Amino acid sequence: MITALGGGVGAAKFLEGLSEVIGGEGLSVVVNTGDDIILHGLRISPDVDTIIYRLSGMIDANKGWGVRGDTFDCLSALSRFGSQTWFNIGDIDFATHLYRTQLRQEGFTPSQVTSELARAFGLKEGITVLPMTDEDVETWIVTDEGEMHFQEYFVKRKMKPDVIKVVFRNIERAVPAPGVIEAIKLARVIILCPSNPIISIGPILNVKGIGEALRATGAKIIAISPLIGGVPLKGPADKLMRGLGLEVSSAGVARLYRDFLDVMVIDTEDAREAEIISDMGIKPVVLDTLMSDHSRAAKLASAVLSEI
Ligand code: GDP
Ligand code: CA
Repeated sequence: MITALGGGVGAAKFLEGLSEVIGGEGLSVVVNTGDDIILHGLRISPDVDTIIYRLSGMIDANKGWGVRGDTFDCLSALSRFGSQTWFNIGDIDFATHLYRTQLRQEGFTPSQVTSELARAFGLKEGITVLPMTDEDVETWIVTDEGEMHFQEYFVKRKMKPDVIKVVFRNIERAVPAPGVIEAIKLARVIILCPSNPIISIGPILNVKGIGEALRATGAKIIAISPLIGGVPLKGPADKLMRGLGLEVSSAGVARLYRDFLDVMVIDTEDAREAEIISDMGIKPVVLDTLMSDHSRAAKLASAVLSEI
């Protein structure tokens, strides 16, 4: 069995490729839920949904999130009431959030809801999507313009404020969701997807017991850098790393994972960082990591697996 840890867009692209090359082997995906937010009274879990939409073939590949061909009538109708419409939610996407909210109100846990959504969207048998925890955790960004929910910083404020600190609210109460520790213990290989190390992988590693399980597992642990040429393709990985005083580079990402990481995949553009990574006691692997379509993602996934 393979276990992967990841966030949204970057993870989903890689996992789509991975799912094409694993044959019948099982795949468990532990997903960040720190990006979750309640808007319009609805529970939204962007990273979980991005992964489910991608693995069910429904993703809007141009945007990297949302459902292909979705319309935005409900959101425009909401603006009539003066509702906050900065977070883009398509009509089909709204249905997902309505259903999730209904199930949560009926007493189902986030893991039960996630497994029901994965079933309803027809995910391939053998693929299990697990939220990192059933506790409600929220990532907040402390900036020079005040403290705000990550989505507000990223989507509404377009990463303009300077980052001072990142806080995972309620993380101290979070325990791994059912199946997460087993997925880490039983895996033959664990993959940290090319996801934002601070706000996608970071929350997962901060759930009590997950770091310990990664250090204790017999599985090989391999990470793929989300930086190409030292910068993220999209999103705030560089701004967050810089704000926290970390070196913005693939070696900087490897350093965050060094107490459990065996192999670090970096892009050919960052090949010169291989030596620094090797000095950390981590095996560097240089590959073309740009996943511009699913066949390139599959090629990357198969190259990653051949390093194990
Ligand atoms: P988010 O939660 O939607 O931000 O998704 P993730 O955290 O899973 O992924 C975001 C990261 O994916 C960003 O830092 C991007 O640089 C990275 N990413 C996106 N596409 C690619 C790609 O094709 N190759 C690599 N190496 N990284 C990518
Ligand atoms: Ca995310």
